[in-house]
Amino acid sequence: MSQAWITLATNDQYARGALTLLNSLHASGTTRKVHCLITNEVSAAVREELENKFDEVTVVDVFNSNDTKFQENLSLIGRPDLGVTFTKLHCWRLTQYTKAVFLDADTMVIQNADELFDRPDFSAAADIGWPDMFNSGVFVFSPSLVIYRALMHLATSTGSFDGGDQGLLNEYFSNWRDLPSAHRLPFIYNMTGGEFYSYAAAYRKYGGQTKIVHFIGAQKPWNSTTTDGSLHKSEHYQQWHSFSEQKFSPARQPKADASSVPQA
Ligand code: UDP
Ligand code: MN
Repeated sequence: MSQAWITLATNDQYARGALTLLNSLHASGTTRKVHCLITNEVSAAVREELENKFDEVTVVDVFNSNDTKFQENLSLIGRPDLGVTFTKLHCWRLTQYTKAVFLDADTMVIQNADELFDRPDFSAAADIGWPDMFNSGVFVFSPSLVIYRALMHLATSTGSFDGGDQGLLNEYFSNWRDLPSAHRLPFIYNMTGGEFYSYAAAYRKYGGQTKIVHFIGAQKPWNSTTTDGSLHKSEHYQQWHSFSEQKFSPARQPKADASSVPQA
């Protein structure tokens, strides 16, 4: 039974995110492999760094919703850059894994979250913009060529209502809202910042339980060190930059072995 974390970087900027995510995963003491999908737009030097640090790197073709007839949907969310996130669909082709967790390159793991691999296929956390929808930055799934082909078909026929992967995946897994509760990941596995008035007090009460932080929106920690003043960002940007500056991922903790570990 093989399991892995999977992320995606189509260019050098997002690759910085992916490398920082990798450092954070190693610091969390995960026992699972970490696999990065990249495209040919990643420069040779960065690709080499990714290949040295990730357990696996796979080069995939860019799949951009701008190439389909649905690009106008992206303008609704003000992120014309997100058409390329259709490339994420390639993760369903990694059938060497029976269970996988996809993490956006703008996420960071701040506490061990390996228990996510016990969740059923398909699991995700609610989106804060529309909580009956899931956010597609963190999801648990089982790679499958049948699902990959169905998603590709949907992408080129119906398209995505937001122009990015999140609209498409919510269309495909449209029963997510009504699935048994195990499929609904707690918010601490995909913690995003919010503007809504109830957010600040909830963050103060529950923020410390966060396991995976997700820096949604156009501003990313790799293109700014200053934040909009929100408590979550001021705390987590700093942490992201310290993970980012680690040149070498901390060594994985070997499993405790009583016969070889001298007792203090
Ligand atoms: N992504 C990428 N290159 C891009 C845009 C997106 O590799 O130019 C990947 C990356 O893994 C990223 C994910 O697609 O984390 C989703 O995009 P983003 O995180 O920017 O969307 P948001 O979470 O802000 O909605
Ligand atoms: Mn994201």
